[in-house]
Amino acid sequence: MFRNTVPRMLILDVFRESTVRHLTADDVYRMLVERQQPVGMATVYKVLSQFEQAGILQRNDLGQGRSVFELPMEGEEEHGHLVCSNGEVSEFTLPGLKEELSRLANAHGWRLTGYVITAYAAPAFNNNDNDTH
Ligand SMILES: [Zn+2]
Repeated sequence: MFRNTVPRMLILDVFRESTVRHLTADDVYRMLVERQQPVGMATVYKVLSQFEQAGILQRNDLGQGRSVFELPMEGEEEHGHLVCSNGEVSEFTLPGLKEELSRLANAHGWRLTGYVITAYAAPAFNNNDNDTH
């Protein structure tokens, strides 16, 4: 069914071997060039999208148009991302969140199939300025 078998294997290897967990399409493209296994940018986008649809990769929107992909560990729970305006990203899981969302979906007569949660933050060291009346 899939063509582009070689690029697909190369791109999957990048995710398996990367020490960085969240990769943009640009990151993947650059890492393939560094490995001297260049794959065209259009193909990188296409393969990432195929992997996402097949549930092999998880796509997360980290805000400001920043889409990252990651390869979930086996048996790993879905996690959310807390994104700081300084560029740092922290992963989190909230106990009971999945059950709560399942209940919410059930109340609509639906079945939860997955979720993506991104929360935004900023460094907290300047919260005492311009706040007087
Ligand atoms: Zn993540």
